[in-house]
Amino acid sequence: MTEKLSIPSRKQTIEENLRFIRARIREAAEKSGRSEKDVRLMAVTKTVEPVFINHAIACGIDLIGENKVQEFLGKQEYLNLDGVEAHLIGHLQTNKVRQIVPHVSMIQSVDSLKLANEIEKQCAKIDKVMDCLVEVNIAGEENKTGLPPEELEPLLAEMAKMEHVHVRGLMTVPPICPEKEKLCAYFQKMHAMFVDIGHKNIDNIDMQILSMGMSSDYVEAIECGANLVRVGSSIFGPRLY
Ligand SMILES: *Cc1c(COP(=O)(O)O)cnc(C)c1O
Repeated sequence: MTEKLSIPSRKQTIEENLRFIRARIREAAEKSGRSEKDVRLMAVTKTVEPVFINHAIACGIDLIGENKVQEFLGKQEYLNLDGVEAHLIGHLQTNKVRQIVPHVSMIQSVDSLKLANEIEKQCAKIDKVMDCLVEVNIAGEENKTGLPPEELEPLLAEMAKMEHVHVRGLMTVPPICPEKEKLCAYFQKMHAMFVDIGHKNIDNIDMQILSMGMSSDYVEAIECGANLVRVGSSIFGPRLY
């Protein structure tokens, strides 16, 4: 259906979707004793054409997330990124690190020492300190990106020593859970780790950002303490691969 909509009507839909999402974010934030300003909305722009990304930016989006290095580098020159931050949120291969580090302000998907080392090395070359989130595979699912929870603290201990890597928090993509209780248990477990590690006051490890919640579950994630939600299809419509 969506592919048949004209560009103006898709733009209008994006605007309406953003209004609706912001209202739900406000409600969920208030329910968890915070204000909507405490929760940052990222527009996830994978597979979305620049014209629509630019429209979301015109509607106030100041943070976009892309999954793939090649796709982002190809689209970048068509985007109005003035005052807009771009984060990498997808699995990153070490051989792509050099290409992406000049172009993003954060990598949310750090899940191995090998990757962190490569970010350190490539950022040292361009004299940049990269903000990073460590991606946690909270349910320990097989064949899934992210670090098992028990490996988190050892990795943080190594990343703490890196001069061009600054850990700013944690990210997760939980399993698909039809039952809300189970989903919230994963989000709560993430929030507990986020708070616990924050209390340890490790040098160069700041627990400021808890990135969790996508189109299907951002309300629950915020209620459980997320302060950055990554929303794609609820803004732009279903993805056409
Ligand atoms: C695609 C993607 C999202 C957004 O997914 P939607 O369900 O479309 O909101 C969020 N985070 C990551 C890591 C993604 O790959």
